[in-house]
Amino acid sequence: MGSEASLSSLMKKISRFRDERDWLKFHNPKDLSAAISIEAAELLELFLWKDKQTAASVKRNRKQLLSVEEEMADVAIYLLSLSDVLKIDLARAIIRKLKSNALKYPVPMFKDRADKYNELN
Ligand SMILES: [Mg+2]
Repeated sequence: MGSEASLSSLMKKISRFRDERDWLKFHNPKDLSAAISIEAAELLELFLWKDKQTAASVKRNRKQLLSVEEEMADVAIYLLSLSDVLKIDLARAIIRKLKSNALKYPVPMFKDRADKYNELN
């Protein structure tokens, strides 16, 4: 990742930014969930109408990569804000979900396959 910032240190910075502006009153689960989805759509929009090869070339375009980075940060900020409002330990939730996914997608059955676990032929 290249950065030493932990989720908890990022959350402190995000909540400081939010609280300096007295925005906590706007941060309800519905609107934060909508904000995550809207920012994810902004990320997706950067690739709209581009074929896979053109979309992948964003890695070599500094300006486009910066736009992707900004939308990813927006998604992450709202995700961390939602986890703060709901008092969800996001790091723990990620670990749990990875364990659950490992059970659903055992390596011997899913290596090099993109099938969904309940649609495996
Ligand atoms: Mg955005």
